[in-house]
Amino acid sequence: MAYDNNNVFAQILRGEMPSYSVYEDEKTYAFMDIMPASKGHTLVVPKSEAENIFELEESYISAVAKTSKLIATAIKETLRPSGVLITQLNGSDAGQTVFHYHMHVIPVYSENPMKIHANKLEDKALLETTANEIKKGIG
Ligand code: 5GP
Repeated sequence: MAYDNNNVFAQILRGEMPSYSVYEDEKTYAFMDIMPASKGHTLVVPKSEAENIFELEESYISAVAKTSKLIATAIKETLRPSGVLITQLNGSDAGQTVFHYHMHVIPVYSENPMKIHANKLEDKALLETTANEIKKGIG
């Protein structure tokens, strides 16, 4: 399947759709998942047109990995989860629903079981305050 540049993350990268920004650099953008599996669920996307890992150029794979570690570290410091799950899906059979490569950074809290593929839109004010909380952990 050819990359569809109307997918929601491409629209977010072009600024055509709103998002709750956590971090940005030359090659990546990190923002809050609007249907979070847990408080602080952040997505890291490359600024490159690739559906999946097979299409993504190596330098972007490294850039996404580096940003994911930065975000996970900030989440660990600010939200104090007991664990952090970092994962990435390739293809609809693997559960991928948005066809622009992305890494999930999901805090895990022992007291709150994770809701994988949650389908409830999170409260906008909570997304914004959580994004601001995580930003404080980025040096
Ligand atoms: P996938 O299933 O493709 O690995 O993950 C897609 C993720 O994107 C899901 O966790 C879903 O909640 C999130 N998502 C879907 N639409 C939007 C959107 O418009 N904005 C944001 N910020 N996240 C979205």
